[in-house]
Amino acid sequence: MKPRHPARAHAKATHPADGPRARDASREAFAERSAPRRPRVTHEEAPLPPKPEAFAALGLADELLYAVGALGYSEPTPVQQQSIGHALNADGEIGADLMVSSQTGSGKTAAFLLPVLNTLLRAKAENPMAAPRGNPNDRRRRFAPAIPLALIVCPTRELAQQVARDAIELVRFCRGIRIASITGGSAYGAQIAQLQNASLVVATPGRLLDLESSGSLQLDQVRFLVVDEADRMLDLGFADELAAINDLTSNREQTMMFSATFAPNIQRLAMRVMRDEGAHVKKVEINTAQEAHANIEQHLYWADNLRHKRELLDHWLRAPDIEQAIVFASTQIQCDELALDLQEAGFSAVALHGAMNQGLRNRRLKALRDGHVQILVATDVAARGIDVPSISHVFNFGLPMKAEDYTHRIGRTGRAGRQGSAVTFAEWRDERKIRDIQYFTKQDIAVATVPGLEPKGGPIPKRKGPPGRKFGNSKRPHPARRAKAY
Ligand code: AMP
Repeated sequence: MKPRHPARAHAKATHPADGPRARDASREAFAERSAPRRPRVTHEEAPLPPKPEAFAALGLADELLYAVGALGYSEPTPVQQQSIGHALNADGEIGADLMVSSQTGSGKTAAFLLPVLNTLLRAKAENPMAAPRGNPNDRRRRFAPAIPLALIVCPTRELAQQVARDAIELVRFCRGIRIASITGGSAYGAQIAQLQNASLVVATPGRLLDLESSGSLQLDQVRFLVVDEADRMLDLGFADELAAINDLTSNREQTMMFSATFAPNIQRLAMRVMRDEGAHVKKVEINTAQEAHANIEQHLYWADNLRHKRELLDHWLRAPDIEQAIVFASTQIQCDELALDLQEAGFSAVALHGAMNQGLRNRRLKALRDGHVQILVATDVAARGIDVPSISHVFNFGLPMKAEDYTHRIGRTGRAGRQGSAVTFAEWRDERKIRDIQYFTKQDIAVATVPGLEPKGGPIPKRKGPPGRKFGNSKRPHPARRAKAY
């Protein structure tokens, strides 16, 4: 079967950071892929980084310890400490299945990458010829199907790319461990080439299954399956894909689910994907989403109308302590309009949403990461997986559709132990949504005002009944609304 081509929505480049080749997504993707890899550091070339003792105590291989040392990690974060401890047994072999809830920004990517990479390294050391090579006798294909040993699935392309980047950092001292990142919106040919000899594949489900069904990829040798942002993956939107991946990787030895949030119904679904229906699963709960993001200052500003919200945003964006910011919009249209509006007001702002082609999305994220743009105006497509430590502020200009997305959005700031600010603007008619967010996060967001921009109106009288019935529950919104919102 030929791979399906993803629908490509037309998106205009509206910022100089998009560069002269803004419309040529494939060229950009090629440039990114063919960028020279960081040279391997050897004893002769440079002194090896330190091997952090606290990581060594977890039984990790030297190659990984050097990488962790080079990244400047001196101690495992709590989620790493516990997850690695359970994922590997005392002999450093494959341990329990895991279901881990841990706040965004807590270091959970390394928490699943390190044990998986450790086992891959071990397998390689024990049997150097065991590298996944595809079938050399199959002469019909230019490329033999890739046969990865580990698979990480993520709900968004941006998250998959971020995880793959982290994995590449962690294998920089390893020989023979190749990482492939398989996401929609990029050229198929290049991805098939990238898959060759890949031991670890990080993927979004749609493209992964396309490549599997077209014979470019075989999943029956997968030993580890990691589901990142599992709450969204198990949610109805990805249920079919996840069920297919579950079947295709039925020979696996370990399954790990990671998420900031694990609602009880999602936990039940997760158990179905675990070995023996979750009979041996180890649950690790570090900081649930409901616990305070201690390093993120949260404020709520009531506004009388859209114009008032825009004035408040303007006031905030001119604050001297803003390094970089993400402004979340509710819909793609609002996202485009607001980015344009901010550009016209003189801000260095670009939009990012799911209707843009992947090349443009990548370029805009890179521009943010490289500090070429200050403000990213985004839909919830950016609510997960963006890890840019210089994001000092997150603004909720349009509220999220689901209360839990509030947690993911604000987790884009205050990364890696830094301080961050999350500022939410809400109109009076959004009162119910705010109550649902507060109910979900089990904390009140402190209400603040800007002198001269105080709201004139007041709250709508409270309705009776528990919050969450319309907004905060786990039901999917109507598909049409969902499509626009990302
Ligand atoms: P994550 O939750 O995986 O997205 O990680 C959030 C941030 O924490 C990333 O910038 C990581 O590089 C950083 N990080 C992860 N583990 C550690 C560690 N042990 N020490 C310091 N920073 C870390």
